[in-house]
Amino acid sequence: MVKKNVILTLILLFGIFLLAACSQEKESGSSISNGDKVQVVTTYSIVYDIVQNVGGDLVEIHSLAPIGSNPHEYDPLPEDVQKTTDADVVFYNGLNLEAGNAWFDKLMETAGKDGDDAPVFRMSEGVEPMYLTTEGKEGEEDPHAWLSIKNGIKYAENARDGLIKIDPENEEIYRKNAEEYISKLETLHASAIEQFNELPAEERILVTSEGAFKYFSEAYGFRAEYIWEINQENQGTPDQITRIVDIIKEEGIKGLFLETSIDPRSMEAVADETGVTIMGKVFTDSLGAPGEDGDTYINMMKWNINTIKDGLTK
Ligand SMILES: [Zn+2]
Repeated sequence: MVKKNVILTLILLFGIFLLAACSQEKESGSSISNGDKVQVVTTYSIVYDIVQNVGGDLVEIHSLAPIGSNPHEYDPLPEDVQKTTDADVVFYNGLNLEAGNAWFDKLMETAGKDGDDAPVFRMSEGVEPMYLTTEGKEGEEDPHAWLSIKNGIKYAENARDGLIKIDPENEEIYRKNAEEYISKLETLHASAIEQFNELPAEERILVTSEGAFKYFSEAYGFRAEYIWEINQENQGTPDQITRIVDIIKEEGIKGLFLETSIDPRSMEAVADETGVTIMGKVFTDSLGAPGEDGDTYINMMKWNINTIKDGLTK
């Protein structure tokens, strides 16, 4: 009889244990601790890579604008809407980048992430904005802050702070990853300054299709010239081509550069008309494909530094 009671008690205890275990599991289903990866959405490949470096194994990232595409304008797919709705956190560039057709704002609204406390973080937080100069666009922020590695360091810090906010249990890991990554960026920034110092100041004029190199130019002592100022306007109109052709002739510019995420025809027309060579490709709004040139933020910046340095060295 006593034995039977003991067994009953044990069964009861086991039942309570099971109930407790179930309710605990239910609770942790929506949390990001207990081994689940933090579900992240990023707006384009460069933000993707920086967040990946800081998040390491703790994050699973879905990036929106595909490699090689133009993140100024993007049409989210049904899958993007679903992943953004389900995401624990979203990282975007800001500074007017994801503004074409208001695609980003619309997506955040559809995904229910437009509230004040939504887990949505701006990578360019704390960057000193630079502004467009084209008539009618003055006062609009230029988004291409990441092309200065100093700003890239800010992006990494913002990725770190955002991830810590969402997943505070792993703060130490995010801090350590960020520290290691930022120290690589600091080395690269210093080496860029050193390499460009070998170019005479008057030869540091960079001609690209889109005027994406404002922040880069400020950081590394260049003057940035372009066919059109930003990928949110008419690209390669006859007036724009005439304007840049005149500048190239006046300044005696010796080399042109072509972005990987831009239709080459306008720059080819400029090269034809001026007889100046396109010295190589540069990465601006997108990484290279995995395993190819410029496939990480560090690799794309290294590529740009070397290509621009070599292209302008006589
Ligand atoms: Zn751009």
